[in-house]
Amino acid sequence: MRDLRGVVGDEHVLVEADGMSAYVVDWSRRFSGPALAVVRPADTEQVAAVVRLCAAGGVPMIPQGGNTGLVGGSVPGPLPSGSSASGAQGPHASLPVVVSTRRLTRLDAVDDLSGQVTVGAGAVLADVHAHARAARWEYGVDLAARDSATIGGTIATNAGGIRVCCHGMTRRQVVGIEAVLPDGSVLSHLGGLPKDNTGYDLTGLFVGSEGTLGIVTAARLALVRPATASSVALIAVEDAADALNLLRNAVPTGVRLLAAEILDAAMLRHVVEISGLPMPVGDEAAHVLLIETESADRGDVELHLPEDRDAVVAVDPSDKADLWAYRERAAEAASAIGVPHRFDVSVPLGGWDAFVVDMKHRLADVADVDEVLVFGHLADGNLHVEVLGPEPGDERADEVVLRCVADHRGSISAEHGVGRAKAAYLHLTRSPAEITAMRAIKCALDPHGLFNPGALLG
Ligand SMILES: Cc1cc2nc3c(=O)[nH]c(=O)nc-3n(C[C@H](O)[C@H](O)[C@H](O)COP(=O)(O)OP(=O)(O)OC[C@H]3O[C@@H](n4cnc5c(N)ncnc54)[C@H](O)[C@@H]3O)c2cc1C
Repeated sequence: MRDLRGVVGDEHVLVEADGMSAYVVDWSRRFSGPALAVVRPADTEQVAAVVRLCAAGGVPMIPQGGNTGLVGGSVPGPLPSGSSASGAQGPHASLPVVVSTRRLTRLDAVDDLSGQVTVGAGAVLADVHAHARAARWEYGVDLAARDSATIGGTIATNAGGIRVCCHGMTRRQVVGIEAVLPDGSVLSHLGGLPKDNTGYDLTGLFVGSEGTLGIVTAARLALVRPATASSVALIAVEDAADALNLLRNAVPTGVRLLAAEILDAAMLRHVVEISGLPMPVGDEAAHVLLIETESADRGDVELHLPEDRDAVVAVDPSDKADLWAYRERAAEAASAIGVPHRFDVSVPLGGWDAFVVDMKHRLADVADVDEVLVFGHLADGNLHVEVLGPEPGDERADEVVLRCVADHRGSISAEHGVGRAKAAYLHLTRSPAEITAMRAIKCALDPHGLFNPGALLG
């Protein structure tokens, strides 16, 4: 511990329970575990020195950004039964150290020629947005946890969010990265060349690696030009098929779909309850569809909605934010009821409704399930399912939902990653050959298995 203090300073090595509490329990309150310490390096050199010290002592490391991840990958796992708080975790001789990147907040000047910017892994999404906007650019990844989620965390999870149907996932925006490897060496590729076919795509390898291959310390991001005008609409719909059908005709040529989100009636009711917001459309709507569209032209963004639809449309920034609040407060509304079992999954686009019917049917046989809420990113076939009732450690609902996803030819993780929550289920939607290849990569870079043990590959 003295060596770590020597690298980052006394105040940035936390060992007391009070100081560590915010770093060892995840946002959902479902996942937590003990840590030896939380270490908060200030720059890449300090990260590398911390990694070298931990590696020399055989101490496992858990990279952590904003700790808004929802699959338990950002916090230590529970102690195996039979071991004590001071004892070993898994095959390792020590409890893990949480390496927080929150002090790596560098924001370099935006390069107006290339439309790129280099930022620190600990820069939060909202700050990167503000920084890009000040230079008349925009960063294409956005999500409700923007005030806490970091660039490093969004890269490590290949975060999706609300703009995927327009700009793609995080992977599409990352031009290069700087990372500290498990042996403490620094891999740096921040030049930003749009064309560079020199060997393996190591940047791409780190996108979605969930802290299992090293620590991302900085990234070169591609930016997009902001639109001139945008509008948001909330529309009552029957189901996902009805919403997709409406979407097909609603967006005229020259107008771009920025987001298409859906909530079922039960989820909407909980949002209204916790937020005090009025019911936006008639009580009888089975689902609500939120769409945001943008155009390069000045003036109102045209939208083709059938006249008999129950809908509200907003063009002023504050009215648009009010409509977005119904969607953005969904995760918080579910957390207000209890500690939900959260599932972030995807199915082929046309299969949303059939999946939901089948999943609810199967969950009806699982004891203790009180309520099932569904919302998500409609245009990406990405559902968020919140199952309320079972105890946090009770895996029966998890097993049922994730098997149902596999049966519907979906993915058990659409955008949140695998973490600890789904590591045991990876085989449901990844083949033995794929998992063997992933293990070979992990073993090559982290032969002692010190980086985020238990996450992703189990
Ligand atoms: C209200 C709410 C809404 C959300 N909405 C979305 C959404 O729409 N789309 C979406 O994709 N996600 C969403 N999330 C999930 C979460 O915000 C994302 O997964 C985000 O990318 C996590 O970023 P973070 O900085 O908090 O990472 P953390 O939670 O700290 O870590 C997540 C994972 O990344 C690893 N990691 C973190 N930083 C680094 C680093 N520098 N180097 C290597 N590994 C690292 C950790 O080890 C862990 O495995 C939401 C979460 C909340 C609470």
